[in-house]
Amino acid sequence: MCLKNQKTVLPTPNCLPESYKDAYHLIKPMIVETRRYDACVNDCLLFCKRSDNVYSLDRACMKCGETRYKAESLSARKTFTYMPMGPRLSRIFGSDNICKILYSRQDLYYGKLTDIVDGKIYKSWYEDGGVFQNMEESCTVPLALFCNGLYPHKNMATQKSMWLLILTWFNLPVNIRNISGPMMLVGIVPGTKTEEPKNLDPYLDLIVVIFLELTDCTMFYAYRGAPTSVRIALLRYMCDIPAFSKILHVSSQAALRGCPYCKEVGFYCKSLHKVVHINNGAFLPENHPLRGEKNKFTIKREDRTSKPESYTKEEELEIRNSYDELPNKNRKSLLQKKTELKGKYSFIGLPYHNRQEEMQPNGMFTIADEIGNLFGLITGKMMGKRYKTEKKSFIDLRIHGTAVPVTV
Ligand SMILES: [Zn+2]
Ligand SMILES: [Zn+2]
Repeated sequence: MCLKNQKTVLPTPNCLPESYKDAYHLIKPMIVETRRYDACVNDCLLFCKRSDNVYSLDRACMKCGETRYKAESLSARKTFTYMPMGPRLSRIFGSDNICKILYSRQDLYYGKLTDIVDGKIYKSWYEDGGVFQNMEESCTVPLALFCNGLYPHKNMATQKSMWLLILTWFNLPVNIRNISGPMMLVGIVPGTKTEEPKNLDPYLDLIVVIFLELTDCTMFYAYRGAPTSVRIALLRYMCDIPAFSKILHVSSQAALRGCPYCKEVGFYCKSLHKVVHINNGAFLPENHPLRGEKNKFTIKREDRTSKPESYTKEEELEIRNSYDELPNKNRKSLLQKKTELKGKYSFIGLPYHNRQEEMQPNGMFTIADEIGNLFGLITGKMMGKRYKTEKKSFIDLRIHGTAVPVTV
C-alpha cells in the first residue's frame, strides 16, 4: 500500500516496485541463498551426506527409527535452515568500508587491556604454532559463537522452544562488531511445540563441517583490489552455563562437579535446594593474608588447600572417549558425576580447538541477579529473615555436622 502511494507520488514513469512482491523480486538476485536440511524429529541427525553434498534418501532416522516425512505428504517433519556464512563474509571483505575499518583497527587502542584483542590468548593465535601463524591480522576472521534458547511466545507456558546459533566477528571494533552485518545468524534450531531441541549436536556438526571447508579460502579483498587468502576460525564460545553444557558436553551448574574449568567439587545445600561452591579460599595465592581469616569464608576455618587442578586436553579426551564407549546410561551418568565431562562433542573436530581457553561465560544473568538483589535490599522486598535462617542452617550442616550432606 505504502509503496503504491509512493509510486504515484513520484514523477512517472519510475522504477519503484509497486508491491512487496515486486520489491522482493527486485532484490532476490542479491539475497544469499539459504540451505535447508531435513532433520530427525528427535534431533538425532540431519538427513544429508556431507562428503559429496548428495542428499540422503533415507525415509526414517537411522538412530531412532522415526519417519522423516509427514504421513500424508513428502514434506519433512522437521527442517533446519542454514544461512551460509561464506558468501556473507566474502561480501564484507568485498566492501570498501569494512576493509578500511579492518586496517584502521590498530590505531584505536593504546596498549591498554580494553578488549579481547588486547589479551594474551588473542595474541597467541598470531604467534608460532597459533591458528593464524604468519597471517596478516586483517586477513583473518576469528569468529565467536553465541548460542542460547529463546521463547518466541513470552506468555505461553512453554520452555525455550528454539535455539539460535549466531556468529560474530570479534576482531572488528566493538561498535561495528555488534551490529547485524558482522553478526551473523547462521541458523535457528527448531524445537518441538512445547520443548527445546533434545540434542544440538547434528546441527553443530554441520557448522563444524562448514568451518573446516572455509578454514582457508580466497576472497576478493576490496582494500587491495585483489583476491586474497583469508583464514576463518571459530575461536570463542559465548554462552551461559546451561548452553555450555549442551554444546560442549560439560556438566551444568546444578552438578556437584559443575565447574567446566577445574576439578572443584561443590556441596549440596539442603535448605537452598541447590549446589553451592564454597572453596573460594583455595583460589587465593598460597600465603595470602586473607587465607588466615576464618570468619571471612563460609567454611569458617583456615583454608590451606591449593587451587583445584584442571584437566589437560589429553586427559579430557580420554575421559570423553571412555564415556562414549560405556554400554549404558547408568554407567555414563556415574562417570559424568565423577568427572563433570560427557562424551565427545562437535567442536572437538576443529584442529585448533581448545575448550578451556575458548569458553567465555556470559555473565549477564549474574549481573542481573546482583542488581536484583541490591534493589531488593534497598526497596525492602528481599526476605531478609529467610536468607539469614538459610545461611545459619547451612553453616550448621557444613561446619558443625548436625546433618549429613546429601549428594545428588
Ligand atoms: Zn532420530
Ligand atoms: Zn573451577
